Amino acid sequence: MSSLLHQLVTRQSEQRHSQTAIVYKQDKLTYGELEEASNRLAHLLKDAGCRKGDRVCFLIPKTPAAIITILGILKADCIYVPLDTSSPAPRLAKIIDACTPRYLIAGGPIAALLNELMSDESRFQGTEIGWMGEGKIESENFKARFSLDDLKSYSSAGLDYQNTTSDPAHILFTSGSTGVPKGVVITHSNVVHFIDWAVRYFGTKHSDRISSHPPLHFDLSTFDIYGTLSSGAQLHIVPTELNLLPHKIADFIRNSELTQWFSVPSVLNFMAKADVVKFNDFPALERLLWCGEVFPTPPLIYWMKRLPHVKFTNLYGPTEATIASSYYSVPQCPDDDRAQIPIGTACEGEELLVLDDELKPVAPGEVGDLYLGGVGLSPGYWREPEKTNAVFIQSPESPDPNDRIYKTGDLAKIGEDGLVYYLGRADSQIKSRGYRIELGEIETALNALNLAEECAIVAINTDGFEGVAICCAYVPLKDADVTPARLRADLNKVLPGYMLPARWMQFDLLPKNANGKIDRRVLRERFEQEAGNDNR
Ligand code: AMP
Repeated sequence: MSSLLHQLVTRQSEQRHSQTAIVYKQDKLTYGELEEASNRLAHLLKDAGCRKGDRVCFLIPKTPAAIITILGILKADCIYVPLDTSSPAPRLAKIIDACTPRYLIAGGPIAALLNELMSDESRFQGTEIGWMGEGKIESENFKARFSLDDLKSYSSAGLDYQNTTSDPAHILFTSGSTGVPKGVVITHSNVVHFIDWAVRYFGTKHSDRISSHPPLHFDLSTFDIYGTLSSGAQLHIVPTELNLLPHKIADFIRNSELTQWFSVPSVLNFMAKADVVKFNDFPALERLLWCGEVFPTPPLIYWMKRLPHVKFTNLYGPTEATIASSYYSVPQCPDDDRAQIPIGTACEGEELLVLDDELKPVAPGEVGDLYLGGVGLSPGYWREPEKTNAVFIQSPESPDPNDRIYKTGDLAKIGEDGLVYYLGRADSQIKSRGYRIELGEIETALNALNLAEECAIVAINTDGFEGVAICCAYVPLKDADVTPARLRADLNKVLPGYMLPARWMQFDLLPKNANGKIDRRVLRERFEQEAGNDNR
């Protein structure tokens, strides 16, 4: 049955009011509590002036309070925008500027970040602050319009909704090549379609115990949340501090008796490298899913050999097409480290097309551009019609201008087996630790520091945890005291940690190609050579 995303929790609270919905460390929240707390927040937001279509940003670490906030915003007919609590204030300010929110709801240990964000009064005209953390928050820069205590005086009764399934539910900001993050608008029906298919395909049920690992600003997190709410299962939020401790993640899967794990492959790779999975480990685990980047075959073999009772599925898809567009369940453990795992076939209602420059299908086995169509396609980028029109184009096979396909920027081929294989990127977008990064965003930030005559960012493959290493080549500004440590420290003030280059190389002049452009291929070779020397 088609519904709005927040109606999933209402339905579950009617059927299993006192069953646990969310587990985080020692905290547990039942479906009834989740429903009532989010209703209260929705009533409060409406009372405080929120109207259909208003954007509400939230800056709350991944906790039950964040999930209540998401549902409360949706129930107030608004659009939620998750902000990364580990991102520096200048980058968050760009996102807030772009979506002109009615409210910024904050919570958790983020007071310093919030204070820095609010130091520019003019920037936040029309945006008020709500506080979902414990106690009161005070600062010379802002006053919260409401706090957690105020929620108690609001009704927990259900609301009438104005939104329909084609209205936006959330905007997820991803790295933008010109230095400004792009907001991908996702509707209720985009998510509901994927969830409906996934719950059926994976057989998700109310006795399931589902991991919640990716951060809330990353679209993979929406699968965990709404997949759980749709099936009345339990969502087990993985504390972020476990991320660098592979044996603790293994303990978490074991002790929480998870039945489903879903994450980017780098986490699984990291755990395999640390050899923290025992033979026949995690007896409750039924399925292990990954998405977001290639899971190299050797660590996949490691996992499959140890967990013969588990179903392993590769999900593929960009944020612009909502969570995943294709899937491939690996039928048996590959016997060759070099075997390539396909991204498979389209999920129900989705379409994968491998096309040439003239938008004609390429022959099987040939490399082409991967386009996506179907029910997951976002309406486009938030207030960016040019960027939207550049990649969301009319389907070549349809006379209907509303029949669109999305150019992913990925290269692919259709194999002899009829399955789709991912072959890399056609541009300078990369994945590092599962994070989507436009190298252009780092370059723009570096140029803005005014410490380099010239600079270029390239990425090289490594067999480390990140999968790729971000490399910076630079020519220091004359007479300036420029060192990698200084560049890194200054970049850290404007970019999140996962975007910082790991390798640096100083030049007198950057190498150029015949057109006079920076020769990135040569730069990559130089960094690869250096990495090879380091490993020797
Ligand atoms: P994001 O919007 O962060 O989900 O990133 C989307 C991009 O991640 C895709 O366009 C691909 O380049 C890459 N990606 C996603 N899933 C996979 C996968 N299963 N295998 C290989 N690359 C993937």
